[in-house]
Amino acid sequence: MKTGKLIVFSAPSGSGKTTIVRHLLSQPELKLDFSISAASREPRPEEVDGKDYYFLSLEDFKSKIKNDEFLEWEEVYRDNFYGTLKSEVKRIWESGKNVIFDIDVVGGLDIKHIYPEETLAVFVKPPSIEELKIRLKKRKTESEDKINMRVAKASIELATAPQFDFIIENKHLQTALNEAYELVSKYVGADKK
Ligand code: 5GP
Repeated sequence: MKTGKLIVFSAPSGSGKTTIVRHLLSQPELKLDFSISAASREPRPEEVDGKDYYFLSLEDFKSKIKNDEFLEWEEVYRDNFYGTLKSEVKRIWESGKNVIFDIDVVGGLDIKHIYPEETLAVFVKPPSIEELKIRLKKRKTESEDKINMRVAKASIELATAPQFDFIIENKHLQTALNEAYELVSKYVGADKK
């Protein structure tokens, strides 16, 4: 199989990693394509199947686990499974691009362990747990219960940060975007035109 690089961005939910990943995807010289994960949760109103996620029923997700179709998968929240399909990495590498992942910390570290030579693993850190809570509330996509669940998980996730190649603190978004660009462009060997 033709191989490229793998760029992993992991962070607690609400840290701003999705914004960073979108910014990097808009820079053509980085030759990045987004790894669309499979997920067993319900789509949010603005989400599109096959673009944001491949939305699968719990049953379909479990059958793909059985068939060994995932590179990594995780029950991120109870009955909410997320995973990277092997076919997704193959699709992107064969198109001559590098893969960028927006996934949880366990999945991110799994990718790093499976492809240690090809992976740049970056952890995006929120300035504080309090700030994270404020951001999740502003987003208005989850109920109070779900926000609390995500905040509780964030403390555990923060402890894994030292296992990543780099940590970016997302205090000022523009600074975080610049840092992420520098890291990734160096790693993929891109020249800005
Ligand atoms: P959300 O429900 O907010 O879209 O995502 C919840 C969490 O699942 C986030 O931390 C997100 O990064 C993570 N996630 C998304 N896709 C994957 C994946 O393919 N594998 C793993 N392990 N986590 C994922």
